Amino acid sequence: MLRFNLYSSAGALGELLATYDKVGEHLDESYISILEAARNTQSKLLGIELAEMESDRMDPQPVCGPVRIVKAELFRNASTLCGLVIGVSETAYRMAVIQETGQRGTLRVFTLADSQDERTAADFVESMQDLFKVSLNSRDVMSDRARSLIGEGLAQIVVAEQAEHAAARTLAGKDARELAVAIKSGSGLLVDLAKQMGSDGQAGLPSVRERLLESDLVVGETVVLCGKTGQAISRVRSRSTLDAMADAGLRCSCGKPANEEKIEEALSITELGRDLLDKSRWMTLVLIEELLHIGVSPDHIFVEQQFDGDEIACIAIISGDVVLFELRDGRFSLGHAHSFNAKIGIVQPDYSMVVTTEKIGNDAKIHFDRRRQAVRKNMPRPYVDESVEPLFVEGISNLRAGLEDLVTNLVTKDARRVLSEVLPLAGITPGTLLRGWTTRSHG
Ligand SMILES: [Zn+2]
Repeated sequence: MLRFNLYSSAGALGELLATYDKVGEHLDESYISILEAARNTQSKLLGIELAEMESDRMDPQPVCGPVRIVKAELFRNASTLCGLVIGVSETAYRMAVIQETGQRGTLRVFTLADSQDERTAADFVESMQDLFKVSLNSRDVMSDRARSLIGEGLAQIVVAEQAEHAAARTLAGKDARELAVAIKSGSGLLVDLAKQMGSDGQAGLPSVRERLLESDLVVGETVVLCGKTGQAISRVRSRSTLDAMADAGLRCSCGKPANEEKIEEALSITELGRDLLDKSRWMTLVLIEELLHIGVSPDHIFVEQQFDGDEIACIAIISGDVVLFELRDGRFSLGHAHSFNAKIGIVQPDYSMVVTTEKIGNDAKIHFDRRRQAVRKNMPRPYVDESVEPLFVEGISNLRAGLEDLVTNLVTKDARRVLSEVLPLAGITPGTLLRGWTTRSHG
C-alpha cells in the first residue's frame, strides 16, 4: 500500500529561501535531486545558461489555497520520493510587492513511499524540521465533500472494548458465524447442532465451539430432558448447579429427581453474541478495526450514522476523501443495489465500497455498470470520475487487501495533484526557450 504524506508550515520567506539553499549539503548523498538534474540536462542540450533556465511560474492550483511556487525540489532516495516546496500565497505575494515588506512564505514537505518502508520518509521530514527549525503539521488533501461532512458534526465512533473486537473477529470466520447463528436460533443442544452441521461440519465442531466459548459469544449449559416425555425441563449453567438444585428438592414434572433424568450438553448465545449478530454489527467492528489498521484516524470514522430516518450508513474519511461503506452479511443483489444507491444519493461520498460475506450478484453488478454508463454519457469532461461505481469486496478475508487498494488509489490521486504543481519546474516553457534564443540573436 502506498502512502503519501503532506506537511506544511509557515515562516518568513527570506529565511525559508536562505535555508533552502542549504538543503543540498544537509542531506547525504543517498538523496538524488531530480528537478535540478533535469534542468541541468536541458540547459546542456539547448545551450542555454542555467541561470536563464528559471522557468516561468505555472498557474497556481488550489491544493493548499492558490500558492505561487518559488522554489521546489524532488529527491529520490531508493524507493522513496521526497518533495520540498517553498511558496507564497498569491494574495500575500501581491500585497508584499505593493507594500515592499517582508513576505510570509509557506514550506511544504511531502513523501511518497510504500507503507512497509516509511523509514526514509520519516527521516526526511525530521531532517527538514531540524534544518528549517519549524514544526511541520501533517495535512490531508481534503475533498470538498470531506470538508462539509466534518462541518456537519457527525457522531464519532465509541471505541469498542478489545474483547468485543476479538469476538467480532471470531464471527468473521464463516464456520464460527454459522454455528453461532444456529445456536441463537435453535435449541443449542450439541446433538442437534451436530446434525445441522452435517458430516463435513461435525469434524470441526469441537474447535469452532471452543473459539465461540473463548470469545464469550456462547456459554455452555446443561439441559435436563425428561426420560418419559423427552421434553427439556430445565437448563442450568453446570452439572454441579443441577446437583445442588436436586438436593434442594428440584424434581422433574414426572416426579424423578432432576439430576437423575437424561442430561445433555448445550450451548446458548450470550448477550454479546446476540448483539454482534443482530444487524451484523460484527461487520461494523471488523471494518473499524481494519480502518484503524490502515491508519485512518478514529476522528474520521463515522459508523451507524442515521440519515433520513432509518438509513444507516458507515462513512470514513480516508486520505481526505469521503468513502461510504455498505456491509452485507449474505449475498448482495439488485434490491440491495437500489437501496445502496439511495444512500449514495443522500451521503454523496467521493467513493463507495460494498463489502459482503458472499458473492455480489450479477444483477447488482449489471445495475452499477448501467448506472456508470448513464453518468458517463452526461459528463462532458474528457475524463470520468472513477468513483461512480462502488468498489466491491467479496468475502471478509479480502477486506484488508480491498482497503489497501483503495488507499493506494486515493493517495495516488493526491500525489498527482501535488506533483502536477511541482513537476513543471523540471521542464522548460516555450517562453524560456525563446528568451534564450532572443538573447543569442542579439548577442
Ligand atoms: Zn421426567
